[in-house]
Amino acid sequence: MIARLAVIGVGLIGGSLARALRDAGAVDEIIGCGRSIANLERARALGVIDCFTQDPARAVRDADMVFLAVPLGAMRGAFAAIRGRLRDDAVITDGGSVKGSVVADARAVFGRIPARLVPGHPIAGTERSGVEASFPELYRDRHVILTPLPETDPDALDRVTRMWQSCGAQVASMDVTHHDRILAATSHLPHMLAFGLVDALARRRENDELFRYAAGGFRDFTRIASSDPVMWRDICLANRESLGEMLQGFSDEMQDLAAAIRRGDGDRLLAIFQRAKAARDGYVDGIRPRRPRSEPEKP
Ligand code: NAP
Repeated sequence: MIARLAVIGVGLIGGSLARALRDAGAVDEIIGCGRSIANLERARALGVIDCFTQDPARAVRDADMVFLAVPLGAMRGAFAAIRGRLRDDAVITDGGSVKGSVVADARAVFGRIPARLVPGHPIAGTERSGVEASFPELYRDRHVILTPLPETDPDALDRVTRMWQSCGAQVASMDVTHHDRILAATSHLPHMLAFGLVDALARRRENDELFRYAAGGFRDFTRIASSDPVMWRDICLANRESLGEMLQGFSDEMQDLAAAIRRGDGDRLLAIFQRAKAARDGYVDGIRPRRPRSEPEKP
């Protein structure tokens, strides 16, 4: 299906796509591109890529599919490096966690949205990074959201859809702004809570004891605070409007909870916890939570 895939950024996301496509027999040749020779050599030794270059323009020269998997802060530079170097029929797609910034970067570099650009985001990952962390099953039974634009060529969209399906993913389509709002709530906000909680506790004088006696729940809740700081700085900067709103809304909820605790309002606490438990249990069982009539809808 893909004759030559160029992966710009051979880390967890780019490396896992390469491995999955290879396992599926959906690609003939994979060329990797990145800054560090050591990472690229490791990727080749692991069989993730066939060859590599540190020059994005050379990487895309004969590619019919280009996948950008660098941190969001490096996307604009990657677009600039490949501008004018692509085959006419090459499809460009990416795995960036925020779509508005990627689309803005493309528009700034190309002066318009290239017809064969299909912005995308695999809703899959771990807290680990680099090619060593990549594995072929990462996308199996996971969602990939594509955010095509009015300019997007249907053939390019079809090729990217089939690429992800061959990795075992379920592909959905969404508007760019809607994507960034949804992901602010379900991914970016939880990461802020984990980073914020661990940092707040680590800065306390008795932090040794706090971490020594932390139980499994603390470990589960804070796993994502081990994620790459550069990647998360970039995500926050790229999605600051939606994430700022989500953080404000969440902070209001915390104030409400704190006030109920301070005034000893057991009924209020029970209502919040019962509602949250029902929603969480339903989510785990794949049931869409219903909003209780007594509670006003959140914007
Ligand atoms: P990663 O494992 O750190 O891989 C990033 C790759 O990009 C590395 O191979 C790195 O190699 C290269 N790179 C880093 N900075 C660069 C720069 N300034 N210019 C050129 N190349 C650079 O990160 P990842 O988790 O795969 O994330 C990649 C993208 O996927 C990000 O946009 C992220 O938002 C998105 N994403 C991540 C997850 C997740 O859970 N991790 C999930 C969905 C989407 P060198 O350092 O050798 O250049």
